[in-house]
Amino acid sequence: MSDVPSSHPRYLSLKLRDAIVTGVEKGITSAHGLIAHGRGEAFDYLVGEETQAFAEAAIRSAAAMLLRASHPVISVNGNAAALVPAELVSLGAACDAPLEVNIFHASKERETAIEKELRDNGAPRVLLPLAGATLDHIDSNRRYVNPEGIAAADVVFVPLEDGDRCEALRKAGVEVVTIDLNPLSRTARLASVTIVDNVVRAMPLLIDAVGTLKVCDEEELNGIVSSYDNEAILDEALLRIRHGGGYHPSPDIRGCFRR
Ligand code: ATP
Ligand code: MG
Repeated sequence: MSDVPSSHPRYLSLKLRDAIVTGVEKGITSAHGLIAHGRGEAFDYLVGEETQAFAEAAIRSAAAMLLRASHPVISVNGNAAALVPAELVSLGAACDAPLEVNIFHASKERETAIEKELRDNGAPRVLLPLAGATLDHIDSNRRYVNPEGIAAADVVFVPLEDGDRCEALRKAGVEVVTIDLNPLSRTARLASVTIVDNVVRAMPLLIDAVGTLKVCDEEELNGIVSSYDNEAILDEALLRIRHGGGYHPSPDIRGCFRR
């Protein structure tokens, strides 16, 4: 770890950089993951480096979607495993969803390193992609999935996802829940629910929301999901970026998560 004092104004951001660099050193994160993280940092500045109302609304809908799923799966890449391994394991336990390793740049070593990291953080079972099972509509390494995991899923949670794979999952009729700080990315646009927030801030809130909504019956969960409008949420995120500190959430967005 670098020796940045906790009084440094960018301390939290620098700590996250340390976590990503450690991920690369442990063989969990690819060098390309560093670039993806930098893009996320830039958008985090623009959304104010705190969880906004549009993210809270999306978190509530994401929790409802995960709870009403018959076969939810949590897809884990190298950046997510470096930043929030324990939270991914907790979310899996909270909504009874297996974790599946799925990385963009092919590497058996990295898949195994991510699997180990998740197990070290308490994951009872980690699925890996298998050569026999593939997603249609995609050419990259990410088309390989696990037959008991993503191949059979009705809802996939994929933080920091690549747009191509998000599109392939949607074309396959799967609901996609993502966390992505860039409201303009293809993933953000194509997902069913997009949480525009830093994965380190959003994960604990999502785990809490799953715990809170666990008591809801199917009808209540359906109501939460059907009243959610992802396009409106992304428009709100763009308003925050445009107006900075002068941004005020629109009243119906507030209603969306306060109900
Ligand atoms: P797309 O393929 O969806 O158009 P992209 O090619 O710009 O997006 P990728 O590298 O495929 O981006 O995916 C990484 C995404 O994750 C980026 O949109 C980036 O802003 C976002 N991101 C990176 N770090 C974080 C983080 N810590 N929290 C939330 N989002 C993040
Ligand atoms: Mg991409």
